[in-house]
Amino acid sequence: MSKIGFIGLGNMGLPMSIGLMNSGYEVIGFDVNEERSLLFKKSGGNIALSSADLVAESDVILTSLPSNKAVEAVYLNKGGLLDHCNSSQVVIDTSTVAPELNQQLEASLSERSIPFLAAPVSGGVVGAENQTLTVMVGGKEETFQKVKDILNVIGGNVFHVGEQIDKGTTVKLINNLLIGFYTAGVSEALQIANQKDIDLNDLFSMMNVSYGQSRIYERNYKTFIEPNDFNPGFALKLLRKDLEFAMEVADNNQLDLPISKSLLDLYRNLEHQGYGDQDMAVLYKYLKDTIDQNKEATT
Ligand code: NAD
Repeated sequence: MSKIGFIGLGNMGLPMSIGLMNSGYEVIGFDVNEERSLLFKKSGGNIALSSADLVAESDVILTSLPSNKAVEAVYLNKGGLLDHCNSSQVVIDTSTVAPELNQQLEASLSERSIPFLAAPVSGGVVGAENQTLTVMVGGKEETFQKVKDILNVIGGNVFHVGEQIDKGTTVKLINNLLIGFYTAGVSEALQIANQKDIDLNDLFSMMNVSYGQSRIYERNYKTFIEPNDFNPGFALKLLRKDLEFAMEVADNNQLDLPISKSLLDLYRNLEHQGYGDQDMAVLYKYLKDTIDQNKEATT
């Protein structure tokens, strides 16, 4: 069985690594944040002191990182994956990054014949914990075949979207644009219920058997809005990042998407106001607080 190295033990990477371990794989982890490494150790995982040490012990290396910048650092900086991996290994990035970065990494890694897949995921922390993520894979068929058993452990639905490295990312960005829409829709629509004294639990039950329901309404309401706890989950700043990438794809293809643009402005504004580290569902709370404050000011 392949030995797996996992870099980035955050909200997604930690449960994915634990899932792989629980399914019988030997997993060695690495995170720049010691607290995250300790959490993995407490779950029975082995920790590497550096990504170079991790690479030396792994057949397949997975990464789950928060930004383009972090992915560039882990892959391309001196002492990174490009320097240490070899052609007998497979590297898989599960982070959501710009399609151009998928292409740049593939070009650099292929110069050293290092097989690479860009395989962003959807399904959130719950999906990572339950090993039911949707995995949207771009990259060579031959490479995909080598690691599909591993991808099937982290995901319940694994799609090899195409050999073009950024194909999976494009699908993932469409998914997250929809998440941005649904999150904004739920956040605004629920304000009407609040004003008209409709209990939000009752509303949820009725929407649950109506076309107004969505997976995002269920997720945002049940996990964050109802308990009034906006600890992520999926941080608002990560959603904002993905909407930026989606808009870049639209711009590069001369697509004018005015509603998406105004959504991006909305999330940018919230991040600017300090909500970036909270779950994206915090948009509901921001709108409610703003409405309540405006009411107070006028009474
Ligand atoms: P996170 O911020 O919780 O985790 C990222 C981890 O990477 C952190 O623990 C951080 O310390 C670590 N890290 C950063 N730089 C590093 C480096 N140079 N070397 C090693 N470790 C480093 O983010 P997350 O929510 O787990 O998301 C990870 C990726 O998955 C993102 O690209 C995100 O867009 C995507 N994603 C997240 C969700 C979700 O619901 N959270 C769902 C689907 C996809």
